[in-house]
Amino acid sequence: MRFFLTADFGGTQIRTAAFAEDSLTPVAHLKIPTRGDGTTIERLVSALRNVTPPQGEILALGVSAAGFTDAEQGMVYATNIHDMHKFPLRQALADALHLPVFIGNDANLAALGEWRFGAGKGCRDLLYLTVSTGIGGGVIANNQLLLGRHGLAAELGHIILVENGPLCACGRRGCLEAISSGTGIANYVREQLALGQASSLANIPQPTARDVAAAAPSGDKLAVDALTRAGTYLGLAIANYIAIFNPQIIILGGSVTNSGDFLFKPMHAAIQANILSPVYLEDLTITTAELGDNVGLLGALALAQMSL
Ligand SMILES: [Zn+2]
Repeated sequence: MRFFLTADFGGTQIRTAAFAEDSLTPVAHLKIPTRGDGTTIERLVSALRNVTPPQGEILALGVSAAGFTDAEQGMVYATNIHDMHKFPLRQALADALHLPVFIGNDANLAALGEWRFGAGKGCRDLLYLTVSTGIGGGVIANNQLLLGRHGLAAELGHIILVENGPLCACGRRGCLEAISSGTGIANYVREQLALGQASSLANIPQPTARDVAAAAPSGDKLAVDALTRAGTYLGLAIANYIAIFNPQIIILGGSVTNSGDFLFKPMHAAIQANILSPVYLEDLTITTAELGDNVGLLGALALAQMSL
């Protein structure tokens, strides 16, 4: 039998899996914390060896990496993993495992995974957004993943929407991520509580975006306002993306989308209010992601399959 190896790693965990050539169900998989004994690359290699089938041929390895990733040069510039900043990941993995290795940014590969196996199957022009702790994105244009000169294109979470707005994890102010991500929602709520706004969230020491989503259905005004604000800015950003990329489908993933209509209603309203022309909305599908937690591994699989 012939197999593909895949890995998906970020600041918290490393996941690895082996897939038979024509299957989306892994024959073996493993999840370990990123931090522990040894360096990150040692842990990654060992987690890959652990899932490698004892018999058969390994065709290639696909890797979904957190943070800035130069797919062409095989370099990663992770900001939240200390020994993976400016690191030649592809070379290190090829040296250790003697395989063709293909790497990509996690949000880009999530877009690729949803396009090849998930909600975007068969679509030529696709935009993917993951709204979670941060906001990542990926764009498929004319059946190709948009990478840009250094593979750094489609950083859709870091368009600046508010001059001198809230501080973003990237160090700048007013990015979409600083407003509409889980972090942005939680920061807004904490700020409003500090200003004395009444809310059931005042009883929680450090309310998170998940707490906000849980408080909204009972009508808590601050929770509803926080999600309305996040959804409105998300819709504003999407109206801009639509004018730039003219997608056929927009796929939304990430934990914050579990807030449902509290986020989506104001998002759709803002898209309608800010769209350049109604023509863009004809035949446009806006939907949620299908691949769930496995999107990183399946995106890496899609990359490996398509790169061979
Ligand atoms: Zn930013």
